Amino acid sequence: MSTARRLDEYQRKRHFDRTTEPHGRGRRRGGSDDPIFVIQHHDASSDHYDFRLQVGDVLKSWAVPKGPSTNPKDKRLAVPTEDHPMDYASFEGTIPDGEYGAGTVLVWDTGTYRNTSRHQGEDLSLDDALDRGHATFRLDGEKLSGGYALTRIRTGKDESWLLVKQDDDGADARRRPVRTQPESVRSGRTLDEIARDGE
Ligand code: MN
Repeated sequence: MSTARRLDEYQRKRHFDRTTEPHGRGRRRGGSDDPIFVIQHHDASSDHYDFRLQVGDVLKSWAVPKGPSTNPKDKRLAVPTEDHPMDYASFEGTIPDGEYGAGTVLVWDTGTYRNTSRHQGEDLSLDDALDRGHATFRLDGEKLSGGYALTRIRTGKDESWLLVKQDDDGADARRRPVRTQPESVRSGRTLDEIARDGE
């Protein structure tokens, strides 16, 4: 699998004359910056959190129905979705009724991450780790920090993964950030406020 992924599926699913989501034709992010992650709360037909990690110049994406946990004992189902363009990381707004993903999107957390994936004593690129079905990384966000693991538990049409917090200084079994910190880290708004005010 190549790092240069295409956004064909992302673009095919959307009508850019009707949704304010980014098209993904923008300039690429490059240089030596740390890669970014973003978690978007998406109040669509079924409420979920979109977990996205920059790999190369796209955002690899998973839909996490219950959202991330800070408790290492929680295993959160993560269903892969299509790669998203880099500028999606700051998207917040409402996708109109009838369009793909109709509903409200809020930037729940964002920051940078550091890949810590290893295999048989060797460092592994995140891309290779994801291909192998087990990746580890440290998040440096506003709400979430420390190590997380993504592990593929099913392949094929029903491919699914688990997102699990690693037991480190960012772990906290009592925190419930999804419930207690619902607001956007970008605008401070709630889903209701974004739905009312738009972008
Ligand atoms: Mn979504």
